[in-house]
Amino acid sequence: MVPRKLTAMKSVLVAGLAACGTATFAQTSDDTVSEIATFFDSAYLIGGPEIVDCTLSGGTKTTCFSITVKADPQSYTPGPWCPANITDSAEAGGIWLRDGEVHDVDGAFIANLAEFYGDTDWQMFDPDTGDVRFTGSLEACEAAARPDVDPAYENYCVQCLPEYMPDDATVTYVIPLDPQTASLTQPTNFSGSGVAHNGIRLDGPAPIDAILAAHTIAPFDECGGHVNTHVGYHYHAVTDCLSPAPAIFGSVESTAAEQHGIQIGIAMDGYQIFSHLMADGSDPNDLDACNGHESDGAAYHYHAGAAGSNAILGCLAAEAGCALENKGAVCDASARPPRP
Ligand SMILES: [Zn+2]
Ligand SMILES: [Zn+2]
Repeated sequence: MVPRKLTAMKSVLVAGLAACGTATFAQTSDDTVSEIATFFDSAYLIGGPEIVDCTLSGGTKTTCFSITVKADPQSYTPGPWCPANITDSAEAGGIWLRDGEVHDVDGAFIANLAEFYGDTDWQMFDPDTGDVRFTGSLEACEAAARPDVDPAYENYCVQCLPEYMPDDATVTYVIPLDPQTASLTQPTNFSGSGVAHNGIRLDGPAPIDAILAAHTIAPFDECGGHVNTHVGYHYHAVTDCLSPAPAIFGSVESTAAEQHGIQIGIAMDGYQIFSHLMADGSDPNDLDACNGHESDGAAYHYHAGAAGSNAILGCLAAEAGCALENKGAVCDASARPPRP
């Protein structure tokens, strides 16, 4: 164990937004682990948290925490995504994002796609019955969700259901305890933006242009999530589904933290991610390209992008850790292959 690192990590995870020096920080790795466990209390935890060695995206070898989770929110049931008929109401479908706006994917939305996108090739429903064409099996969702969409699934509403995932599918997040500032900002399209306190991946942007090119849409549920067969359920937008994280900051009296809204997760570089808006409902107006800032004595942290922005974070300001689909794999983010 490396006490200095762990103490530094405390300053990130617990006191990151505490402007004052009145808080007392736990000094042992046991306390660190238990605080991380508390933060992820609402996650479907399979393994960890534990402290591990890791190699970050910029090649820095450092100390990370590791948690293994199932991508299964415990406070609600994901979905729905695609409405079944063009007469369906908004409750039967999810949301879609365009130019910063959030749109309900109800039956009328599907019926109106040609006009919405100014392209008469859109025809996602049976004109006789009004039935929406949507992917209804694992095979269909995989064929429709791959980068080169199977032509048979053009003009489909693409949804993969959580039950298509193998029972033992997990994701292991390996995140630095002590953010290692990078000379260049890091993209979010390798391991995502971070992980929410409910254990769900806060992903990078959905490839909306590629999806639209095949005249498909892949709606998100009201919570901003949908399923792919690699990582399971994941978020591309942060809506109002994430409650405040429990307790991890509860022991620290921090006026600064309270002003910045609620902490919804931890970024892949180890910085905290807060809600889009400040606690008073105002927009933080001094965010950098990554959606981060440092203010009023509050350490650097991010605010999630607006739900319609398709960017939970703009980038990562520090070196990223790993989101691993193979349990037990070691994090070397400097060696990861390009993600399709
Ligand atoms: Zn996605
Ligand atoms: Zn802030």
